[in-house]
Amino acid sequence: MSLLRFLLVLGVVVWVARLLWRWLQPKPVPPNQEAAAHSLSRCSRCGTLTPQDLVVWQDERPFCSPACRDGGQV
Ligand SMILES: [Zn+2]
Repeated sequence: MSLLRFLLVLGVVVWVARLLWRWLQPKPVPPNQEAAAHSLSRCSRCGTLTPQDLVVWQDERPFCSPACRDGGQV
């Protein structure tokens, strides 16, 4: 194998390795999606700050829990 061919093969191997490396990296989370996941809503009854994915909605008002939504003792 000539030196030129060896360098050509080496270049292809490095290129494929970089493609594989990039493919294996976790995709970065879009900034707006990350912000939405960490934003908080204030409970309409007790005022507790609750993450968006845990909020219980009733008549477009956020509540921290079904107990608060149903009017139970806090
Ligand atoms: Zn509450």
